Amino acid sequence: MSMTAKERMAIDRQHMPEREAGVRNCDFNEVNIGFPEQLALIEASRCLQCKAGKCIEGCPVGINIPEFMKYVEAGDFNKAAEVLLSANALPGITGRVCPQEEQCEQVCIRGKGKGVPVAVGHLERFIADWARENYDVKQIIPPPTGYKVGIVGSGPAGLTAAGELAKMGHDVTIFEALHKPGGVLVYGIPEFRLPNKIIESEVDRLREMGVKIICNAVIGRTFTVGDLMDEEGFHALFLGIGAGLPVFMNIPGENLKGVYSANEYLTRVNLMGAYQFPECDTPVIKGKNVAVIGGGNVAMDAVRTSKRLGAKASNLIYRRSRAEMPARKEEVKHAEEEGIVFNLLCNPKRILGNDKGWVKGLECLRMELGEPDASGRRRPVPIEGSEFVVEADVVIEALGAGANPLLTSTTPDIKLNKWGYIEIDETGMTTKPGVFAGGDITRGAATVILAMGDGKSVAAAMNRYLKEKVTLPA
Ligand SMILES: Cc1cc2nc3c(=O)[nH]c(=O)nc-3n(C[C@H](O)[C@H](O)[C@H](O)COP(=O)(O)OP(=O)(O)OC[C@H]3O[C@@H](n4cnc5c(N)ncnc54)[C@H](O)[C@@H]3O)c2cc1C
Repeated sequence: MSMTAKERMAIDRQHMPEREAGVRNCDFNEVNIGFPEQLALIEASRCLQCKAGKCIEGCPVGINIPEFMKYVEAGDFNKAAEVLLSANALPGITGRVCPQEEQCEQVCIRGKGKGVPVAVGHLERFIADWARENYDVKQIIPPPTGYKVGIVGSGPAGLTAAGELAKMGHDVTIFEALHKPGGVLVYGIPEFRLPNKIIESEVDRLREMGVKIICNAVIGRTFTVGDLMDEEGFHALFLGIGAGLPVFMNIPGENLKGVYSANEYLTRVNLMGAYQFPECDTPVIKGKNVAVIGGGNVAMDAVRTSKRLGAKASNLIYRRSRAEMPARKEEVKHAEEEGIVFNLLCNPKRILGNDKGWVKGLECLRMELGEPDASGRRRPVPIEGSEFVVEADVVIEALGAGANPLLTSTTPDIKLNKWGYIEIDETGMTTKPGVFAGGDITRGAATVILAMGDGKSVAAAMNRYLKEKVTLPA
């Protein structure tokens, strides 16, 4: 701790070990190995403990990062875990999948100019993994308040809201449509990035706090929002139902056999274990030549999955250049190392099929970049006459997702915006009193940590609502 700023500045960012690309691209085990203790101590000592604490503002759940770093550097992992868990209920998850380069690490003073920021995410992961083995959660739950709160959806928004509300002494029940809790964390993000056991242990921590989880409960079918409020006695609800409805390009050939939405493809492999077929019941078409359309995390996950399922060629087709790719930088780097072929500045025109109705290729057009569009990224403009064919027997569309209307269509008093997402006021309440919402269903497809940030802030607003507006029988 007695190091000068100059000495700290002289330390280079430590590299987190990862499995060798040619080995890991054949299995579903985790790619990153994580910091050993010695590297974690060195990396934490790169933090300058600056007063501004911009990194705290850069974190949507407001982790006190300088304090956390101070404890890691001192080797007091118990205290570091305490700081981390007091702000973030799912650190083993965010430490693995947060786009830190756009959040805490982007504003880290050490990243200014040509500098390299402190590896906040890698250290978060290190302490979360240490805590899973060694930290005894002494969560002090206050006496029951008598309020009964329902959470619909068990993705990061719902899990976070559930944890916060349980900590306040409310009786919390999560309703999840699928047979396993976790939302995209469990059905979308592959195990080679986020092992299921990490999610299970973070969900178990919530159960230990008294949160009940009911799976296979589709709200809008099994119960409606009205049933939960009027008949099941819930005083308030949080809707964290995500944005899981796949978007298609609407190009010719999408009905051919061998065309998947990334959502279906990844759900088959991750949630249903199709990579172990026939030991698992669910099959997936593996494909020798796979073409994945898109440039975000979902596309990266799908294309890397196809390689692991044995594809000879796994092609990514993206209409802009590498600089505009929305995927986390680490995923792009890992994908390239694993032998994924990047077809940049290419846009699919139609999917080609054989006489038996199976995919045989993807016709694409080359693109060039024009002026920036509404997203601030340069608009891709087609180059006329530049058509070419990518050989493919499986085509996966990873073009984003929209709101699933299943719940909201049975609750007409919840107002939606023009894209079908739920409208909320500044507290997170929908147009139906007592029903709150957050995460992707209010923002559109975003990130794990933004969904968690919503879960946390909306839970605080729900607590205020319950205390101010709901009178319990004497
Ligand atoms: C493949 C993939 C990779 C991604 N990678 C990253 C990444 O690396 N980093 C990152 O930060 N973000 C990533 N994201 C985005 C991130 O996962 C989402 O922004 C985040 O999960 C949104 O959380 P949520 O809680 O709002 O919704 P979700 O995680 O979508 O969870 C919603 C849950 O609600 C359930 N549900 C829906 N309707 C009902 C109903 N009617 N009744 C009961 N339950 C219902 C669903 O089954 C689901 O379990 C990725 C997304 C995908 C698809």
